[in-house]
Amino acid sequence: MKDRYLCPNCKKIINIDEDIILTGKNNKGEKGLILLHTELGNYSSKISDDCFCKEGEMIELFCPLCTESLNYEFKISYANLIKVEAGKQKNIIFSRKYGEKRTFKVEGKKITTYGEHALKYTDPEWFL
Ligand SMILES: [Zn+2]
Repeated sequence: MKDRYLCPNCKKIINIDEDIILTGKNNKGEKGLILLHTELGNYSSKISDDCFCKEGEMIELFCPLCTESLNYEFKISYANLIKVEAGKQKNIIFSRKYGEKRTFKVEGKKITTYGEHALKYTDPEWFL
């Protein structure tokens, strides 16, 4: 079954096959398209313009359909999306810093971490 990712705001599907389609804005206000892989822990992203995202830069991400910011409300340096797995909605929280491999899947009180930079934060209190 195909993965489905939803915008937390408009709840519309924002992936096509294995690409999650987002718009991004760097700290100079330049915009571009960003494709993230649907597989958690796979950080092979694609960007529309190489100059737009630099390693370590904070990128603000937006839904391509409703244009709302995807910033995670409790932790501003993260973005969040909804993943539908077996009919259940799970919160996917990931770092907005370009190149940082840090992703969390939150399902009630159960947290699964992905990415080599995520190991530092295994304390569930961090999300509450
Ligand atoms: Zn949206």
